[in-house]
Amino acid sequence: MMRQFEMVERVASYDPDVDEDALNRGYVYAMKMHGSQLRASGDPYFSHPVEVAGILTKYKLDSASIITALLHDTIEDTSATYEDIKHLFGEEVANLVEGVTKLTRLELQSDKTMQAENFRKLVMAMSEDIRVLLVKLADRMHNMRTLHYIKKPEKRQRIALETMEIYAPLAERLGMQEMKTELEDLSFAQLHTDARESILTRLKFLRQQSGNIIPRIIKQLKDILVEVDIRPFVSGREKTPYSIWRKMQRQNIAFEQLSDIIAFRVMVPTVEDCYKALGTIHSKYPMVPGMFTDYMSTPKANGYQSLHTGVIGPEKHRIEIQIRTHDMHEIAENGVAAHWSYKQGERNTDGRQFKWLRELLDILEGAAGPEEFLEHTKLEMFQDQVFCFSPKGDLITLPSGATPVDFAYAVHSGVGNACVGAKINGHMRHLRSVLQNGDQVEILTSKAQTPSAEWERFVVTGKARACIRKFIRTQKRNQYIELGKQILQRAYKQEKYEFSEKSLLNVLKKFEKETSEDLIVSVGEGRISGQDVVMAVFPGIKTNRLRQVVQKLKKTKKRKSKSEESSIHINGLIPGMALHFAGCCHPLPGDRIVGIVTTGKGVTVHTIDCPTLEKFSSEPERWLDISWGDEVENMTHIARIRVELLNEQGALAELSTVIAKNVANITNLNIVSRSINFYELLVDIEVQDVRHLSNTVAALRACPLVNSVERTRS
Ligand code: MN
Repeated sequence: MMRQFEMVERVASYDPDVDEDALNRGYVYAMKMHGSQLRASGDPYFSHPVEVAGILTKYKLDSASIITALLHDTIEDTSATYEDIKHLFGEEVANLVEGVTKLTRLELQSDKTMQAENFRKLVMAMSEDIRVLLVKLADRMHNMRTLHYIKKPEKRQRIALETMEIYAPLAERLGMQEMKTELEDLSFAQLHTDARESILTRLKFLRQQSGNIIPRIIKQLKDILVEVDIRPFVSGREKTPYSIWRKMQRQNIAFEQLSDIIAFRVMVPTVEDCYKALGTIHSKYPMVPGMFTDYMSTPKANGYQSLHTGVIGPEKHRIEIQIRTHDMHEIAENGVAAHWSYKQGERNTDGRQFKWLRELLDILEGAAGPEEFLEHTKLEMFQDQVFCFSPKGDLITLPSGATPVDFAYAVHSGVGNACVGAKINGHMRHLRSVLQNGDQVEILTSKAQTPSAEWERFVVTGKARACIRKFIRTQKRNQYIELGKQILQRAYKQEKYEFSEKSLLNVLKKFEKETSEDLIVSVGEGRISGQDVVMAVFPGIKTNRLRQVVQKLKKTKKRKSKSEESSIHINGLIPGMALHFAGCCHPLPGDRIVGIVTTGKGVTVHTIDCPTLEKFSSEPERWLDISWGDEVENMTHIARIRVELLNEQGALAELSTVIAKNVANITNLNIVSRSINFYELLVDIEVQDVRHLSNTVAALRACPLVNSVERTRS
């Protein structure tokens, strides 16, 4: 375990602005907080954050990142809080630690959906501050190195799979080759233990057979390069079991045929030396066809630059050789961390190495759900690349198998949506043609063109697929919206209402829709009938029966009036007793009610929630249990509503029209207040019962000029 002074010395050796005091405090704080907690290995827990910090010092990260590494598990696993860390180490570190904590929490879920979701949030978090991801990768690296201590095999399996599918590709995309290789190999050891064992055994056998040839080949390569005045640094290594296994899978060959299992790296001072070295090696040893790639003039999306070749080298061994400058090597191994600049404000967050990040975010916005997102990005992350050029010479990197449509979407989604044809190297070509390395692609566009569903069959990039799907979804949806509106306009008209989207707001819940537009779409698709919507918005309407009801009410209204209250049938009432409806709460049939006996005056009916009842609480003998009978249907009662209208012409007229349409007479109307924007009114209306009232209220709420309506007691 790295000691405190070692850590400070290491950071100070590369960071002139090192905050030694904060580093020391971070170390001590983490030790104190984790206290006697233990790792699965039996080591003190504290050793883990220290190792993670140690990994990051190798990437020369700034003090804030190192302190974050030390504290990265304190919020999750100890009593420390965001506020504590902010107080002790400042906002920058607190935010970073919180970022890592979020990623850790997301890891705890493991089913497919959650993993995609995690990934998505992970990308988001990363785009906020790349250091969060660097700390997380180092955390994962140390956890993978100590994976074998975890007892449950399923847990080991899950962690290894997640590392293989998410963290190793992320490390690669950040250009951290060394970290990616180690993560992959550690995961491979867990996921395919037997395969790895047999590859290791075979490697050992080959080594015994040919002796240790690596030093001999290194010497020969050095000698021929020194001869032409190049000062090379040459290293050689066996490929990792995982990369050998991948090669066996990809090329479907057995291990016996796989001779090029050793790779050499030649590092030289300048770019010129690289090409000179390449020429020298090719003139000395026969080149293996198809193995040469120039990542120097056309770097990988993650910034990687190198010359790759394969030759039948010394002692007739097939070998791979990578040639690059020392600077390029630094970037190849350490990726973004190599670009790291400790000084605030100089942070390079917009270079080429982050282009893929923006692409991921584009996909996120276009994709419908986590699964679709995972499908796109996973594919993209594992595909090999093809390099093409725009007419202006801009380099567009695409997965191999990409078509002009992919190219067009890679340039811009607008270009993709409008593309009608493509010229490849000056010739008109099919949109489905497969692009080759070095193709110059010119996209022809037309404003009249829209993406075709056909395209989805041949595009290979996630971005193109997501854009096409999004477009088709929107297009279909727009058609349904158009249709849905037409249906609703007709349905409303039948009941003499004007259709408005606003009127749907009150019934969204009933139809389980999020927005009015969603409801309109469902009507357009024929899942919900226009009539059902109208009935829900205006519950007072009983379609086709409306006219009969009006007739009936007109008749009964003439016959009965408020003065005939005593003829109302109320259960629980002694026959012949005088009956009043309280003016304070205007009870309606359907309300829960109580009677209060007043000597000489009979019974006064209140709603059960009327505040006036408070006065009678000490006289239980006066309370009478009553409820509405069945024959109250033809009676009208006064109800009072408070309405807030927009202060606009026609608002009052609309109010009275809607009330009249619902067969509820206005008996009184008071303007309570009036402002620039609103009127507030108290309106007394005659209704049959509570349902009639709430139907009328619902109809009012649907009016564009009505801001709010509620029943009131005052
Ligand atoms: Mn950790």
